[in-house]
Amino acid sequence: MPIRKNLAVHRDPYLPLMGPKETAVCRRCGASYRRKRWSMEKPLDLRQESGVRSVVCPACQKVNDSFPGGIIRLGGAFLKPHREEIIGLIRNEEARAKTINPLERVILIKDEGSFVEVQTTSDRFAQRIGMEIHRAYKGEVTYHWSRDDKFIRVTWHRGQER
Ligand SMILES: [Zn+2]
Repeated sequence: MPIRKNLAVHRDPYLPLMGPKETAVCRRCGASYRRKRWSMEKPLDLRQESGVRSVVCPACQKVNDSFPGGIIRLGGAFLKPHREEIIGLIRNEEARAKTINPLERVILIKDEGSFVEVQTTSDRFAQRIGMEIHRAYKGEVTYHWSRDDKFIRVTWHRGQER
């Protein structure tokens, strides 16, 4: 028997229902939605256009609700002396992502001493950060998806865990 996917479950609950011809601007971060995609482009006339909806974009909602799409846990003895560089790499990835897809954002970076936890708005962004850290610093990385593939837990460590 074929398995039927329930589209309602797989849909990101934070994506506002908007028609393909609608235009909207996030009143928190200024991201704009037009032609079915979000961007940080700010056409000067956008706010003057009639029918532009004022919304809170999905990324700002997730930041506000602390509703991460991905959690990355970084650990191991290598982390401590390289913490600043690794966090810098994450911030660079965030800056790069923002120009391509403003819905990919870091919610928070929590320094817990022996490990660092990073929360992101999207699972794919968390996966990419894991891949970039692994590419730059080697070590061991694992990826576990759950919640119908909408949530990822990434762990990375290099050296002994304490
Ligand atoms: Zn926003």
